[in-house]
Amino acid sequence: MTDALFPPSSAQTLTPSANILYGCGISGGIAFGQAIFLPSISSSTSSASAAASDSSYATPHSPDTALHATSQAENQNTTPDQQQAFTQALLLLTDLLRQQLAQSDNATHAELIEAELLLLEDEEFIQAVMQSIAQLHLSADRAIERVIRQHADELAALGDNYLAARAEDLISLGERLKRVLQDGIASPFANLPKDCILLADSLTPAEFSALPLENIQALVLRRGTLTCHTAILARSANLPALLGCDFNQANISPHTPLVLDATEQCLYINPDAVLADNLKQKQQQLAHYQQALTRFCDQPFATQDGQRAQLLGNIASGADISTLQQLGMDGVGLLRTELMLLNAPTLDDEELQYRLYCDCLRQLNGQTFTVRTLDIGADKVLACLPTTDEVNPALGVRGIRYSLAHPATLIPQLRALLRAANQGPLRLMVPMLNQPEEWQAFTALLQQCRDDLTESEQGYGPLSLGIVIETPAAALNLAAMLPQLDFISIGTNDLTQHTMAADRSNTSLSQQYPSLCPPVLLLIKHCITLAHQQGIPVSLCGELASNPVAVPLLFGMGLDEFSVCPSQALAVKVALANVSAKQCSEIAANALKARYISELEACISTINSQTD
Ligand code: PEP
Ligand code: MG
Repeated sequence: MTDALFPPSSAQTLTPSANILYGCGISGGIAFGQAIFLPSISSSTSSASAAASDSSYATPHSPDTALHATSQAENQNTTPDQQQAFTQALLLLTDLLRQQLAQSDNATHAELIEAELLLLEDEEFIQAVMQSIAQLHLSADRAIERVIRQHADELAALGDNYLAARAEDLISLGERLKRVLQDGIASPFANLPKDCILLADSLTPAEFSALPLENIQALVLRRGTLTCHTAILARSANLPALLGCDFNQANISPHTPLVLDATEQCLYINPDAVLADNLKQKQQQLAHYQQALTRFCDQPFATQDGQRAQLLGNIASGADISTLQQLGMDGVGLLRTELMLLNAPTLDDEELQYRLYCDCLRQLNGQTFTVRTLDIGADKVLACLPTTDEVNPALGVRGIRYSLAHPATLIPQLRALLRAANQGPLRLMVPMLNQPEEWQAFTALLQQCRDDLTESEQGYGPLSLGIVIETPAAALNLAAMLPQLDFISIGTNDLTQHTMAADRSNTSLSQQYPSLCPPVLLLIKHCITLAHQQGIPVSLCGELASNPVAVPLLFGMGLDEFSVCPSQALAVKVALANVSAKQCSEIAANALKARYISELEACISTINSQTD
């Protein structure tokens, strides 16, 4: 029997002598730091005088002084002052972008920065703003707004999707320039102290990806849940976080000492010395546990008695592949291409995508590589796409629905993937696909891409094809689609959302959106049974696969591949190594009979007590 290896448990929970807030803990770590409030990134929050102060993060509820700053500027509007302010802001932002460009190791991000620099250095743009200040007596920010708006309107009026997206880029760059003008700092993250615990209402995945993680010890958000995409990114980055934590109720002042214990899903506010000491000890125990886990890097993903399954990774870019390999994983079970292209200037750059996929294949060197077509919509908003105002985005034009409605976006991706498939084995899967009709439309488009590549004498390789099961409809329609599929992957984050009719990112629905519940378990079992009858392997790429507690159960249900967040890979290996295949089957048999979540939890916990 493998030595049981368990993280420091809640038995060590401490009696708090501090104010304490709860939320949904991500990444499982403990972090110490000072409270720093992030003002809403998309709106200006500090006045011009803040430029001289140490930071723009001073107050939890920053006053909306943007308008105030504007009118002040107009009162003091002397042309040379305003022109100088504009030139100064231009220099600051250009400087920051150059630094970011030099540090960027991401080709798409670099291209976006280059495009922004081009505009900021464009003589016509600079002259137009200077003239608006001089001739129309506008303040610098009004002049920027006017020139940018004019330019964006001209682009949008051309009625082309690509140019409409460029117009959005322009407006967002104009907003940043105005913010620099008002704050005197070029980045909303400038001057962040090294020991900062960042507090914010919410962050989009794109905003998260712009955070200077080296300065951030932990993240606390008022909104969000375990399976929202910002949480998924935080977990990938191994950043302790607490989501859905209503910190406004605690009246925390800036710079207050905080300790975030993601293992206990709580935030201690200004803990006393004894508590802080205890938490430090627990942090050290966790570090030892993490260290002890590393011996599993070169262990296979197998039960105590040697029954194996595939352990794959969920990744957001090729940069994550070396981590998978260090952890001894078997390849990639889900490349979220929309996260890879979050900040790309455009989605129709076939060459750029081709290079990115080839780079992944080269690194993987024959290991499994599973790419998901763009899964746009719901909480995944891309920099290069105009935002939509759907009333119900989780049920809206998202995933394959978006791709089929915008073939000009899907086709470059399919062509890039087909061409890359010449370089190594590539599995392609389609998100949010419910019906065989959608599968037909998708495969027709794929065939059209193959024909076009043949006609232009460009080579392409074979793709294994699959779908992500994310709705009850997909599970119930599976039999009709299986004959044309090479594999399936179960996306439990969305499958749970759509089965339970509970928004996965709504903090108030934690009871209605459980991480594991009988109806979702039955749907998973249904898919595994059907797929195995046809000899088709089944993967699971939702967060459930990353939960060590669920691993023996899923293995016992016959799951072939676990596609997990790499930061959880070793804990998942340990969870399987601690049990025998027979124990897994018994758990599965009992769990599938459970009618209540509590019964399900009881079935799973039998394992922990047996291996304790
Ligand atoms: C899922 O829904 O389970 C999934 C893996 O996709 P995403 O989390 O990207 O929606
Ligand atoms: Mg999904």
